[in-house]
Formats: sequence, structure tokens, C-alpha cells
Amino acid sequence: AKRVGRGRAVVYGPALGDASRRLSQIELALRGAFKAGQFHLHFQPKVDAKTMRPVAVEALMRWNHPKLGTVAPGEFISAAERCGMIHELGQLALREAALAAKQLDGLVVAVNVSPLQLMESDFTSIVAGILKEVGVEPARIELEVTESVMLDDAREALRRLHALRELGVRVALDDFGTGYSSLAYLRSFPFDTLKIDRSFVQSLGEQANSHAIIDTIVQMARALGMRTVAEGVEGDIELAAVRAMHCDEVQGYLVSRPLSLGSLKSWLDGQHEG
Ligand code: C2E
Ligand code: CA
Ligand code: CA
Ligand code: CA
Repeated sequence: AKRVGRGRAVVYGPALGDASRRLSQIELALRGAFKAGQFHLHFQPKVDAKTMRPVAVEALMRWNHPKLGTVAPGEFISAAERCGMIHELGQLALREAALAAKQLDGLVVAVNVSPLQLMESDFTSIVAGILKEVGVEPARIELEVTESVMLDDAREALRRLHALRELGVRVALDDFGTGYSSLAYLRSFPFDTLKIDRSFVQSLGEQANSHAIIDTIVQMARALGMRTVAEGVEGDIELAAVRAMHCDEVQGYLVSRPLSLGSLKSWLDGQHEG
């Protein structure tokens, strides 16, 4: 491994596998891609489980590189976290999401927030600044965090979540059920929303356990005054099951894939006609 640039390690030689070569290519391409404006958001609708009407969208980052092709967020988000670009990317996501919120009347726009962003020194004022600059009500924005925000310094993470809440933005706990100590955090912080991880939803057909787990999560969330979203709903059987269990919202390919803002608007227009 040879050190180049700002302490970035680049590995050379025949031992390098295709996968790790792609990872270092991604890291090296990130900054240029950011400057070239190659990052943008897609939006996936969340519908009310009872009425099936759209109530929110989740903003998901997309990157189309001329040579690397479509790079999945699973690949480039962790690369951006390693090389420090996550802060710029995260602010881009917040700003674009806020701009979208202004064009999507009534809908809440959810944005994913990396633990590194939450823990940057002035994250709350960055969020406040962007919302003010764009001119969007904080209540229209929901920040999705995972339990991994608590890993490093749970007290500080909770303090920051409370500060964001005071600002008026909503806060969701993403991928719920896959972390290690979910229940303790629910006692320390009043999340607005629990997003039930798609691994539970997608195993509804095969594993009887999943049904019991989702049912329990929904009842607990109710008792604690939180909304629930079933993620990754792909089929009619899952949809019927999560509706029967009184999940509040449904998100997944069955309803819609993530769409560009333009396609989302057409999709929303189509929903009004139905
Ligand atoms: P996530 O926050 O759990 O987002 C949901 C992922 O599930 C998205 O993948 C979405 O496209 C996918 N999905 C939605 N419905 C279905 C379905 O019915 N079936 C299946 N199989 N998948 C479905 P995506 O867009 O590839 O994003 C992956 C992850 O990357 C996200 O997981 C999130 O953790 C991260 N990510 C995406 N955009 C951002 C961003 O702007 N900032 C940060 N920090 N992370 C982001
Ligand atoms: Ca999410
Ligand atoms: Ca999720
Ligand atoms: Ca995830």
C-alpha cells in the first residue's frame, strides 16, 4: 500500500481484487464527481397504509459516473464516510430534499443522515441554516438515522437528536430491529417514526417469526406514540400482512421504486386521478 494525496491509501499490484480496485476507484472519483454535479436525489413514496395515499417520500442519493457507471449508495456512502466527503454529500442531500419539499405540497421529505454527519460539530445549525435559506418548514423534513449513531457516544448523539427535534424536524429510526439495543434508545429518545427493517417484511412469507416480530414492534410503537413504516414491501402478501397489523405507512417497490423528482410528480398526479 502506498500513501498518496491526503493520507489516502492506494493499493497496487496483482493481488488487488476487482472489488477492492473498484472501491479505490470510487474513493478517488468522489470529489471530482461532486464538483461535476454527478450526484442527485431520487424519491421513493411512502403511502398511508389505510388509504394508500402518498404521505411522504424518502430521498435516496444517486450517482451516475461516466466510466464507473451507476454506483450504488451502499458503495459510495461508505467510501464518502471514509474520505470525509460525507459532510458535503449530506448537505447536498439536505438542500435538494428541502427544495423538493417546497414542490411537493404537504408531503414530508425524509433524508438519510450518516452518524458522522450527526456528530459533526455544528450539525443542528447546518440543518437550521439550509431550511431557512431554502424557506421550508422544519416539520416537512424527517431525518432518518440508524442505531449506529449511538455507537460512539450515545449521550452526545441523544443530545443532538433532541436539539434537532427542538428545531422542529422529525426524526426516524431506520432499519429498526437490526441493531443491538434498540429498546434502550426508545426509552431515551422520542422518535417520531420507526422504520421496520425490510428483512422482517421480506421474510413474512417464509418465517412465522417475522409476523410476530412486526406485530410486536407495531404495538410497542403505538404505545410509545411513534408511527411505523414497513420498508421493502414488494408483494401483495406482504402488503396485506402489514396492513392487517396496522403499520401506519408502507414503502417498497410494490408501491413505487425511487423516482426522479420529475417522475415522482407525474406519479403523484396519477395517484390523484385514481
Ligand atoms: P435505506 O435508508 O434503508 O434505504 C432503503 C433502500 O431500500 C434503498 O436502497 C431503496 O432503494 C431500497 N428499497 C426500497 N424499496 C425496496 C423494495 O421493495 N425492495 C428492495 N429490495 N429494496 C428496496 P438504496 O437507494 O440503494 O440505498 C441504500 C442505502 O444507502 C440506504 O438504505 C441508506 O442507508 C444509504 N443512503 C442512500 N442515500 C443516502 C444519503 O443521501 N445519505 C446517506 N447517509 N445514506 C444514504
Ligand atoms: Ca432510510
Ligand atoms: Ca431502511
Ligand atoms: Ca439500510
